Amino acid sequence: MFDAAVIGGGPAGITAAMYLVRSGCSVILFESLTMGGQILTTDSLENYPGMPRGIKGWELADLFAAHLDGLSLERKTSAVLGIEGSAGAFSLRTSDGEVQARSVVICSGASHRPLGVDGEARLRGRGVSYCAICDGNFFRGRPVAVVGGGNSALEEALYLSKIVSHLYLIHRRDQFRGAEIYQKRVLETPNIEPVLSATVEELHGASDLESITVRDLKTGTLRNLTVDGLFIFVGMQANTDFVPAGVQMERGFIVTDTEMRTSVPGIFAAGDVRAKLCRQVVTAAGDGATAAQAAFLFLEELNAK
Ligand code: NAP
Repeated sequence: MFDAAVIGGGPAGITAAMYLVRSGCSVILFESLTMGGQILTTDSLENYPGMPRGIKGWELADLFAAHLDGLSLERKTSAVLGIEGSAGAFSLRTSDGEVQARSVVICSGASHRPLGVDGEARLRGRGVSYCAICDGNFFRGRPVAVVGGGNSALEEALYLSKIVSHLYLIHRRDQFRGAEIYQKRVLETPNIEPVLSATVEELHGASDLESITVRDLKTGTLRNLTVDGLFIFVGMQANTDFVPAGVQMERGFIVTDTEMRTSVPGIFAAGDVRAKLCRQVVTAAGDGATAAQAAFLFLEELNAK
């Protein structure tokens, strides 16, 4: 039986695991893919304190993961499929069997949400993408579109603009929502064409994406844009398939108090998986540290009983 099972190897999970081990707890850390989480699909980070010249996503992910080297904890490359039991005696069903833990820290992050338009599912991987770093190179010198108006859409559009020939940046409002600094850069980039107050209605292509239909929300007119790629960044959905029914959620994200306690005693949540205002690497790491401290106090209370 481990003192704590940490689910997720992004900034929140790595920080939580590190703090728990340093507090003397026995820890198992689950990561289904590669350590680093969403930073691995980010080109560079400019807003992580202490990195005034910015840092590449993969580089920061490596540094986070390296922080666990030499620490005494068990790391598993397996997926957690379900959590049963209660405070002090949880059983985690994983792709590699059952694991017992006295407390659980959920740091499973979030994934990009689909747009939900005709043709999206069929053309996924055939022109439709949710990751510019992963797929941008397939569209070198070709026209693409990006949908969304938040930081993800703006950042990814700026990254893609260096690779593609022309980029339509489609947003349903008449103003972007992402940080001012990215808005300014987007507007100054010659091959980015903002298509504002517009929605993507339909995707076309027999085997690969060939064009998209876009509706102008002010006039109602439809327009066909010839693009080889469509990158969708319209918000995030939390990765919570395995979270037990008793854990309170809000619009698909886990509700916690300020100490990262969920509605189930002994289960904590940290990072992008939780309902909160600000989803950043620095806040995920902060959540992870707080969750670890709260889990440690919870374990001490169990020991005192
Ligand atoms: P987001 O901030 O929630 O923005 C989603 C965007 O998609 C909004 O502009 C929204 O439009 C639009 N949208 C939502 N549903 C849509 C639909 N059905 N059709 C068309 N457009 C739709 O999501 P995000 O950009 O993925 O960012 C997620 C979080 O990560 C945010 O907290 C963000 O600040 C953070 N993040 C930070 C950085 C950074 O600091 N460098 C980078 C990436 C992400 P409306 O504006 O009309 O709602």
